[in-house]
Formats: sequence, C-alpha cells, structure tokens
Amino acid sequence: PYNGPSADQILSKRKEFLNPAICHYYRNPLLVVDGKMQYLFDDKGRRYLDAFGGIATVCCGHCHPDVVEAIINQTKRLQHSTVLYLNQSISDFAEALASKLPGDLKVVFFTNSGTEANELAIMMARLYTGCHDIISLRNAYHGNAAGTMGATAQSIWKFNVIQSGVHHALNPDPYRGVFGADGEMYAKDVQNLIEFGTSGQVGAFISEAIQGVGGIVELASGYLPAVYKSIKKAGGLCIADEVQAGFARTGSSFWGFESQGVVPDIVTVAKGIGNGTPLGAVVTTPEIAKVLTRSSYFNTFGGNPVCTAAGLAVLKVIEKEKLQENAHVVGTYLKDRLTALKDKHDIIGDVRGRGLMLGVELVTDRELKTPAKAETLHVMDQMKELGVLIGKGGYYGNVFRITPPLCFTKEDADFLVDAMDYTMSKM
Ligand code: PMP
Repeated sequence: PYNGPSADQILSKRKEFLNPAICHYYRNPLLVVDGKMQYLFDDKGRRYLDAFGGIATVCCGHCHPDVVEAIINQTKRLQHSTVLYLNQSISDFAEALASKLPGDLKVVFFTNSGTEANELAIMMARLYTGCHDIISLRNAYHGNAAGTMGATAQSIWKFNVIQSGVHHALNPDPYRGVFGADGEMYAKDVQNLIEFGTSGQVGAFISEAIQGVGGIVELASGYLPAVYKSIKKAGGLCIADEVQAGFARTGSSFWGFESQGVVPDIVTVAKGIGNGTPLGAVVTTPEIAKVLTRSSYFNTFGGNPVCTAAGLAVLKVIEKEKLQENAHVVGTYLKDRLTALKDKHDIIGDVRGRGLMLGVELVTDRELKTPAKAETLHVMDQMKELGVLIGKGGYYGNVFRITPPLCFTKEDADFLVDAMDYTMSKM
C-alpha cells in the first residue's frame, strides 16, 4: 500500500515549487505510484491501462523485469561518466543499436534526451555541409533548446528564439494538408523552398516519419523519397527524427523512415529507448561523424553505463518478446476497431497511424474539420475514470494519441475501444 502524501498535497507543492507551465491532463490529476508493463496504479491501488506511456518512457512496459535487472546490476557495479574511461555497457549498446540501422549508419553518439540528439544532428549537418540552412516541416516537434525549437514548427511550443537559417516546408498531412495525400506535390514545395528561399545549398532536412506531438500525422506516401532526392542534390543531409516512431513502434518496420523506403544520413532516437531512463542517441556514418573531431565534444552523462545497460536490455526484450510483430498485429487490430468506431460516431474525423502509434482526430463538423477541442478533453477525462489513459496532441489539441507500451494486447485494445465507444455514446 501507498503511504506517501495525497494527490492534493503533491499538487500544492507542485504549484508552489515547480514550473508554472506544467499542465495536467485531467480534471483530477492522477497520482501514479506504481507501474507494471502496460498498467499504472494510483495511490488508492486502482489500475489504469496505459495507452500513452509507450512513447514518453516505456517502450517495452513499465518496470519490465529484464530492464530493471539490467539497471540494478549496473548501478550496483558502477555509474559514472563514460567519457573518461572504458566501459563495456556503452560499447555493447552502441554495437547493438548500430546493427539495427541500414547502410553505413554505424557511428553512435549518446545524449540524455531527444532535444540534445537533434541539436547534435543539426550541428553535425551544418559542419559537414558548411551550410546553415535547415528545412523542417510545419507542425514538427524536434526539441526545446534554441536550435531544435527553431526546427520545431508549432507556435504553441515556441518562444521568442532566434530561428536562424530554418525554413518550414508545407506539411505533407493527408488529412489537413493543402495537397491531400499527394506526397509528390508537397515534395515540390521543398524543391521550391531550396530554389527560392536559399542559396541553392542546404545543410539538412529534418523530419519525423509520423509526427507525434503534431497529432500522429503520417507523412503522405511518396514524400520522403522525393524530398531526400532534392536535399541531396542541394548538398544537404537527411535527418530522421525517430524519437517517437522508431524502435519497433510502427510494427511494419523497426524504424519509421523505412515505411517510405528511404535511408537517412543521420538518425536520432530517445524517449522509450531507455525504458524510462534518460537516454538519447545520434547515429550516422563514419564520414559524417568525423566532423566532430575538429574540436572537442563532451557530454558528461551521455552514454553512461546505467542508461546504456537499460538500452541494451530494451533491444533484447524487443527481440525476445517479438514486440515489433506484436506492434504490427495488435496495432492493426486496434486501428481496424477504431476505424469501425468512426462509422458510429460523427465526432471522429480521422483515424490514422501505424502499428502502436495511432491517432484519432475529433471534429465537430466533418466537412469543415472543426477541431473538437473541449470534447477531446472530456472523452480523455471520462476514459480515465473508466481506467484507460490515452494521450492528446495536434496543434488544436483535438487528436488522441494512442502509443502504449509495445506489450499491449488485443484484449487491451478491446478495453480501450469499448471505453471510448461508451464515453462517446454518452456525450
Ligand atoms: N523529437 C520528437 C519527435 C519528440 O517527440 C520529442 C519530444 N516530444 C523530441 C524530439 C524531444 O525529446 P526530449 O523531450 O527528450 O528532449
């Protein structure tokens, strides 16, 4: 049993001592005290099905025993910076991570977050190409430091940063985008941007394969191959931000970019890869990696033994428990059931995504696609009361993000859809 302070006590401390910008999803904020695989437990011992935590922290399940064991064993032995001395943990995970990537993507730099990984990727591209111009997509999220906030393109996530050299291309969003699902038309916008918005040379193009924060927007098919061609012609590098879509989540492939049949020059990962420990990485080719030898590059905790031990354990669990296959099978089943729900409830404007990275967009008018913002919050809140936690995203805050740990089952999928159906029927 839980003997700690109550939710109200924690909330009042939070109000007094913590970042005032922290938001709470729920009318009665949830105090979670335990986690086990796809479940979270509150202070009263009540169980919740966690259909959102998969991206933020737990790729293979809360407190997965194999990962916990790896963390404990390494913590008992040694936790230190790996910059100064040799250590097995960092090199083993680097090797395992590189082995999951195609082509010449073999050199790994470790960081502590997705922001740091993208900052490093952008800096390396600029150094390698000698060009400052970066192209990213409107609606993208790449991080909260100066460079990555510049690449991020949603006003709700931006402050007054100096956004030097960043161009934001039209978003190849099949549901809301100006060219519908025509990937090649959006790709022409990038070509246009290169011709009319730059010197003709670019440093890099960075994008997610499925936008997470942006509301599970899967880039229109045919988009990345055409864009990568334009970028390469302009001397730039292609960066795949796999912070959310990577690591088996999309089911059909291990990496999100694979669904578009491209091979990036730089790949960034973070979030779930450490199953809750702060771990991020940049993977690139030996040739590009060399640019960092021009000066010294140092990251105190990047690749520390405990986090990389966790990362290696996660990769082993994905393999052992066939989690990519599970993401594909359960994700396809869940998407079918959500799509069927769309026939029943007019408020559902779109169901999209791949594997266990799914989005449900709510609109009050299907023709006008008017965002159903208040209704989204209401359904989330009611589903929580029924014991199901889902996420929310999109610029208008009207898209459910369903991104559970990859151990999610068909029964869990049924429970989630039934809870959503019940809540929508009562509205
Ligand atoms: N890239 C993507 C696609 C993300 O979703 C996020 C986090 N939402 C980041 C980068 C930044 O990661 P972090 O919060 O670990 O800095």
